[in-house]
Amino acid sequence: MTPGVRPLIAGNWKMNGTLREAAALAEGVRAGLDAVGGADLLICPPFVHLHVAAASMGWKAVGIGGQDCAAEPNGAHTGDVSAAMLADAGCGYVILGHSERRADRGETDALVRAKAEAAIEAGLIPVVCVGETEAQRDSGEAEAVVAAQMAGSLPEGFAVAKGVVAYEPVWAIGTGRTPTEADIAAMHARMRAEIAARFPGQGETLRLLYGGSVKPSNAAGILALPNVDGALVGGASLKAADFLGIAAAV
Ligand code: PGA
Repeated sequence: MTPGVRPLIAGNWKMNGTLREAAALAEGVRAGLDAVGGADLLICPPFVHLHVAAASMGWKAVGIGGQDCAAEPNGAHTGDVSAAMLADAGCGYVILGHSERRADRGETDALVRAKAEAAIEAGLIPVVCVGETEAQRDSGEAEAVVAAQMAGSLPEGFAVAKGVVAYEPVWAIGTGRTPTEADIAAMHARMRAEIAARFPGQGETLRLLYGGSVKPSNAAGILALPNVDGALVGGASLKAADFLGIAAAV
């Protein structure tokens, strides 16, 4: 944790579920909210489930976010969804630069930065993901890789918009493996130094999340680390009890 910073527990539902399941999952999270008052909660359903999830959630109880947005504001971009559309659909946040998009869709730091600018322009809080591959960690490059991704992906307006950075080692996502707590703390200390140097007076209190195989059993230890201001949760966010269990570990 960072003193004075309210943690954020974000659920990345990825490309999972039906409308009915999205509604039930959101309702399950809503039903358990009273027990987890120590953190802000955010759910990020697939685009076509945003509306039903937000409605099941009661619209205001937790944050709603998209999993991506276009860099362009509107127009002839078949298949894309703009940041303004997400805001109009009830979103307050958008995940950008997830490693699955960087790997599967070839998203570069420059594109992630352009998307973050579009998100901020639309009034959304960008949750920008960074993280090293296993080969990069093994060769001792992890901190340099993450610092470079932050330099390239975060736009000038990031701090004013209260942007969030999520450290997600690629090799920890969906694998059940996590870095040691010491390694997470070291990376988050480096991230804090980078963001504080880039945005003096503001970067000290921006939220830095850890993501990658977070579950109820390891959440308390991770969330207690300095400069870890919450979690970005994939698989465990698909069960309301697990997601709420992580939030309760704050
Ligand atoms: P995981 O995914 O919790 O299933 O590892 C995290 C993420 O990709 O955001």
